[in-house]
Amino acid sequence: MKILFDGLRKFRSEVFDDHKPLFEELSKGQTPHTLMITCSDSRIDPNLVTQTSPGELFVVRNAGNIVPAYGSSRGGEEAAIEYAIEVLKVKHIVVCGHSQCGAMAALHKPESVKQLPAVARWLEHAESTKRRCEAIGKFDSETTIEENVLVQVENLKSHPAVSAALRKDRVSIYGWVYHFDRGEVTIYDPVRKHFVPTMEIKDRVDHNMEKLAI
Ligand SMILES: [Zn+2]
Repeated sequence: MKILFDGLRKFRSEVFDDHKPLFEELSKGQTPHTLMITCSDSRIDPNLVTQTSPGELFVVRNAGNIVPAYGSSRGGEEAAIEYAIEVLKVKHIVVCGHSQCGAMAALHKPESVKQLPAVARWLEHAESTKRRCEAIGKFDSETTIEENVLVQVENLKSHPAVSAALRKDRVSIYGWVYHFDRGEVTIYDPVRKHFVPTMEIKDRVDHNMEKLAI
């Protein structure tokens, strides 16, 4: 725990004071622009990767960045998604997978979670990912991680709040994969139908990210 206590003390004595105006503003309420759904993996830091500050991202995390289809889990994901859309009025939703995802590796190796019944049950929400890999005959980790992002985006659309917001053009959905080993995010391009490195699409998309909405 020492590492955490040291961090808490440093935060209070140095960081908090340096960013006082921001924290004063945040004490009035939150108005995040983006709901980010990503994996619990400790190597992902959503604010660091997107260079955003506290108050900008509303984050849902779980093993495998999974979005159970509406009504299939009655879990926290449903509540967080509904709250983000209906109350916080986020404008963007990002489903972000990542390289070397343990949950996705386990999808093709069910024996690896034999002793982990809760994990095995949870991964049933990614059964479509497994089937899609089988359908195209590709089982490598990159394909699995990308297909899973697309599956979870589809699941996301089954949530009534998301469906209604899409109908009113109030929200845009994006599929990302974070490659922490090379410091790069690839974004699904619905026109080219594959994931493209952020730096590559910069010129074409310019500042209009909506062109990449799925
Ligand atoms: Zn993961």
